[in-house]
Amino acid sequence: MREWIGKCSSCGRDVYCENGFFAGEQKNGKLLCENCAASQEEN
Ligand SMILES: [Zn+2]
Repeated sequence: MREWIGKCSSCGRDVYCENGFFAGEQKNGKLLCENCAASQEEN
């Protein structure tokens, strides 16, 4: 099952929840895909 959560606020990519796993992050009301969430953690 795949549920559309929204668009990444950084790169505009679609972010989905797949089989209960949310492939991204939500911070301060902003939605981030897993790529942007990972690169934000590095900085
Ligand atoms: Zn992104």
